[in-house]
Amino acid sequence: MSVDLHTHSTASDGTDTPAELIAVAHAAGIDVLAITDHDTAAGWTAAATALPRGMILVPGIEISCYAPQSGGARIPLHLLGYLLDPADAALGAALAEVRASRIGRARLMVDRMRADGLPITWDQVHALAGAGTVGRPHLARALVHSGVVGTVDEGFAGPLSSRSPYYVPKADIEVFDAIGLVRAAGGVCVFAHPRRRGRTVDDGQIAAMAGAGLAGLEVDHPDHDPAARAHLARLALDLGLLATGSSDYHGTNKTTPIAARTTAPEVYAALVAQAARPVITGI
Ligand code: AMP
Ligand code: ZN
Ligand code: FE
Ligand code: FE
Repeated sequence: MSVDLHTHSTASDGTDTPAELIAVAHAAGIDVLAITDHDTAAGWTAAATALPRGMILVPGIEISCYAPQSGGARIPLHLLGYLLDPADAALGAALAEVRASRIGRARLMVDRMRADGLPITWDQVHALAGAGTVGRPHLARALVHSGVVGTVDEGFAGPLSSRSPYYVPKADIEVFDAIGLVRAAGGVCVFAHPRRRGRTVDDGQIAAMAGAGLAGLEVDHPDHDPAARAHLARLALDLGLLATGSSDYHGTNKTTPIAARTTAPEVYAALVAQAARPVITGI
């Protein structure tokens, strides 16, 4: 049984529509797929409608969060919320605020780049994002189209880096608030790629998140080297957290193929057992 618990569609910054994502997953032999677009459940229905018989969809959202640090600093991080009630008013309002801030932030980044002479327009970015949650991958593709950079990766390493003068932060949700919102909506929380590049929260903060109701750590992720995976596996064991694995597939916006990393079937079962709502099975 092949389980991939973290993938993106055109509902955010992936390049496959939700229906295409299901088809790609099915062709890759995936039995259980989570759709986890950034800050939105907009792709769930189309993905569910496209499910082949017997294939299982775990509806999820990758929530943009921050962990508050002493001195007022904020470390950005991503929280995967699975099987939550998409009609929950409090969570819905918080996510709508993040999506709105992403638009303002992307427009501001376009303005800053244009002011510096880079040939990028908001119309171009807006056309690439469509109705989906806008993100830096859309800005990156606009820069590739305009010939400013050769690849999306180069865009992230250069003008779109968090250290770039064009970078603008977005209004993320405080992570303990986010855990509370997802749990109140009946969902299960997993900390996405806890050791991705850049500044990350320490083990003490992960323990505090576990105390607040975090259910798991995404131990196996394409951005984690073997040392990070070993460390996180140990930490998950110590804290009584589930250890998941996923591809974080983004279509052609990233090079990682779907199912490049997977979750053990028994871990998937334990995760589902913690949720108030059932998974969706293709009929
Ligand atoms: P944002 O949420 O708008 O700040 O953009 C971050 C998103 O860009 C995340 O979903 C990452 O998966 C994605 N991302 C980060 N680095 C890269 C990269 N080098 N190439 C493609 N996507 C990236
Ligand atoms: Zn993304
Ligand atoms: Fe992420
Ligand atoms: Fe992701």
